[in-house]
Amino acid sequence: MKYVTLNNGVKIPQLGYGVYQVEPTEAERCVNDALGAGYRMVDTAQAYHNEEGVGAAVKKSGIARSEIFLVSKIWISNYGYERAKASIDESLRRLQTEYIDLMLLHQPFCDYFGAYRALEEAYREGKLRAIGVSNFQPNHFIDLASNVEIVPAVNQVETHVFCQQIRSKEYMDEFGTHTMSWGPLAEGRNGLFANPVLKEIGKVHGKSVAQVALRYLTQRDVIIIPKSVHRNRMEENFNIYDFELTPDEMERIKSLDLAKSAFFDHNDPETVK
Ligand code: NAD
Repeated sequence: MKYVTLNNGVKIPQLGYGVYQVEPTEAERCVNDALGAGYRMVDTAQAYHNEEGVGAAVKKSGIARSEIFLVSKIWISNYGYERAKASIDESLRRLQTEYIDLMLLHQPFCDYFGAYRALEEAYREGKLRAIGVSNFQPNHFIDLASNVEIVPAVNQVETHVFCQQIRSKEYMDEFGTHTMSWGPLAEGRNGLFANPVLKEIGKVHGKSVAQVALRYLTQRDVIIIPKSVHRNRMEENFNIYDFELTPDEMERIKSLDLAKSAFFDHNDPETVK
């Protein structure tokens, strides 16, 4: 496993396991499988309603808590300083842990400055080892990062071969904020699993399309959290460090970038209302 050092010195596995859309009743089994496959970072959120299952799997795994990196996110209904502060304690209780390794603000809506103050406070108290944001587009990200005391360690944004965040990553790098990809496989959108360029490159290395797409992001220093509820796919997505894409292959995959979301148009009132 490769580790990345965040802007406060904390080390995070570059590859983790995401549990978005994993049923609360399935979460414990899935995280148990993922830990068995070798994952040591799990990405959940208050809005996924499966923090309990994640916590239970970690607790029962027998793996030292210090070896597992837990990420969660505060949902917007818990924004504002007071509510965010209380919700961090609720997440700690649901995850059955004394600290969360990385806590993010899920979306840049409502009183997110107030919520971020609660993150900063919990960080200073040792309840959170690192703090950051998610889905902060350049306008929100630069505004927040320029006006808070603790610069976000991470911005978790949609990042995959069709939406590579090339420019966004450059300015996040300037703040020392790591880009963490959600949807690293674009949830299969835009025909990702049948993409001829990815298939051809995969063939050369004896690797699947998913492995090529994930490996590409890690070679761009992006942290990734692919999701699957199937143990064999969890293993497939985990086995990406035994090959390396050449500079030419990197360029070919770079050219797949459409530089726009495969999920939302942030400028379309219909998708954001
Ligand atoms: P993903 O890109 O990881 O795609 C997951 C889907 O791809 C699976 O449901 C499965 O259908 C398919 N898949 C996975 N591995 C495969 C394989 N090896 N072969 C074939 N098909 C495969 O999408 P995601 O779950 O949306 O994103 C990953 C994680 O990112 C989430 O679980 C969550 O933790 C996080 N996330 C965060 C946000 C946010 O707003 N911060 C939004 C979405 C997701």
